[in-house]
Amino acid sequence: MNLLGAVARAVIRPCPGRSGRCFGRLQVGAQEAKVEGLNLTATGDGQRLAEALGARIVNGAPGASQHRSHDRDAARRAARRSAATNAYSTRAGARDRVIDVLVIGGGNAALCAALMAREAGASVLLLEASPREWRGGNSQHTRNLRCMHDAPQDVLVDAYPEEEYWQDLLKVTGGKTDEALARLVIRASSNCRPWMVRHGVRFQPSLSGALHTARTNAFFLGGGKALVNAYYRSAEALGVHVRYEAPVDSLELADGRFEAAFVRGERIAARACVLAAGGFESNLEWLRESWGTNERGEHPADQFLIRGTRYNTGTLLKFMLHAGADAVGDATQAHMVAIDARAPQYDGGICTRIDCVSLGIVVNRDAERFYDEGEDFWPKRYAIWGRLVAQQPGQIAWSIIDAKAVGRFMPPVSSGVRVETPRDLAMRLGLDEARFMRTLHDYNAATRAGTFDHTMLDDCRTDGLTPPKSHWAQRIDTPPFFGYALRPGVTFTYLGLKTDQTAAVRFGGQPSPNLFVAGEMMAGNVLGQGYTAGVGMSIGTAFGRIAGGSAATAALYGEAHARA
Ligand SMILES: Cc1cc2nc3c(=O)[nH]c(=O)nc-3n(C[C@H](O)[C@H](O)[C@H](O)COP(=O)(O)OP(=O)(O)OC[C@H]3O[C@@H](n4cnc5c(N)ncnc54)[C@H](O)[C@@H]3O)c2cc1C
Repeated sequence: MNLLGAVARAVIRPCPGRSGRCFGRLQVGAQEAKVEGLNLTATGDGQRLAEALGARIVNGAPGASQHRSHDRDAARRAARRSAATNAYSTRAGARDRVIDVLVIGGGNAALCAALMAREAGASVLLLEASPREWRGGNSQHTRNLRCMHDAPQDVLVDAYPEEEYWQDLLKVTGGKTDEALARLVIRASSNCRPWMVRHGVRFQPSLSGALHTARTNAFFLGGGKALVNAYYRSAEALGVHVRYEAPVDSLELADGRFEAAFVRGERIAARACVLAAGGFESNLEWLRESWGTNERGEHPADQFLIRGTRYNTGTLLKFMLHAGADAVGDATQAHMVAIDARAPQYDGGICTRIDCVSLGIVVNRDAERFYDEGEDFWPKRYAIWGRLVAQQPGQIAWSIIDAKAVGRFMPPVSSGVRVETPRDLAMRLGLDEARFMRTLHDYNAATRAGTFDHTMLDDCRTDGLTPPKSHWAQRIDTPPFFGYALRPGVTFTYLGLKTDQTAAVRFGGQPSPNLFVAGEMMAGNVLGQGYTAGVGMSIGTAFGRIAGGSAATAALYGEAHARA
């Protein structure tokens, strides 16, 4: 059997031979074979064989000598680290030397899982790919969480009942959602905040001008960075061990059971594991491959900017999909915002968002409008605009407003092009002047008189225009005029692992007894497409907590209990 070709679907069960020689059982699909431990014969044991094979699986199929030296390095590193790993065990007796719950990832979902597992009494090791200063993944960029509530609650006004939340989700996803899991998230959002506060998270009311969210979204005081810092502080105080710069590149699985994770060849075993390593949005190659070429022969993904962390490369997601885990979602679906075209490739965060789309018009490179800018409230629509821009020629568009819109939206950090006449705007933006003037004229002529109110779905709309503008359609005629260039900004991808109410990863429809998933890695169960502001953190918090609890139960009380 070609071991190197066995790659990710291999299931390795170490079994030390009596002679001291190293053997293992290697399973590929339905075939199982006994294999000898290569050059680990003298002192090797089954674990070393697994480590060696793990290292090979991770690194593809380089030359044999490279393998041998890699194996030696991996073994040396493993020996150095095993002492540290053993120290993670906090529980006395025979169970020691293996971590109860391994959490992979270092953002909101991972931290919620780690805290829950630790609170349940499990020893917990959290592996974060990034250095400490970049910890927290996309979660460090967030501001709020969408919360169900039946009456006013501290920072939330009025009520946002379960049914309304569900209908909002149903609408934005176009029905591509799992109702049971979505409702689970919605209900969990109504009672998670006291737990968050216990772990140091503080809330503040919605800022004025912030996406009409005072009723629906609880804002984190200090933003997502303060939230993840609070969680790390609390986790460390509770005895959760954290390792930075520890990107997991593969797992050892046996019949859907988690056995161990590998970090650059180092094998880390645990009784249960939570996968919370984000989507694949930072993997530009994978985005390019998924989006392919369009009818103009362009690779749309070449123009994508990534709003968050560079560390969500989808390595584990890809590994799990190759390992036969059940998938959910479509690789081209993502939360995608139209952002300032000048934003950096990664980590531009929220200050690169252009929030005046619904107050004006948006034109593409041909100076044509292409979508209803006033279809619904901005928080329910902002996440479709990245995709809309991605579908335009050159993957670029411009948001155009006049003086009447100023002060009615959160201004971006970098100011837009400001001019006194629409003709100057066309010239400064590099648009065909005649076409731009025609588009603007057609739009202005189609607006009908109404009572403008950007805080409600007002009656200012267009008549007889394609595409229409359904709300907030005012003439664009008052200088100064502003233009902002827009590019697709990917927030997070929706392709993920299928799961259930226990957060278990599933293989062929069967739940894993000790491997769980949370956050972006499973958000596609709830978000088949579309988005409504704050639901990412609702999903991560709900499923992070469930996954942490399930993993602790599996580790401490036996895997059958985690399914109960
Ligand atoms: C700019 C921006 C603003 C946002 N604002 C909001 C908001 O206000 N409200 C909201 O609900 N949502 C918001 N989101 C979406 C939100 O960030 C996500 O839904 C949520 O943070 C996902 O949490 P997570 O823990 O799954 O992923 P992340 O927070 O991204 O964490 C994933 C972690 O996994 C680590 N990792 C990746 N690969 C590996 C590996 N192989 N091994 C080890 N570790 C690995 C990463 O380093 C990272 O720490 C925003 C996103 C962005 C980018």
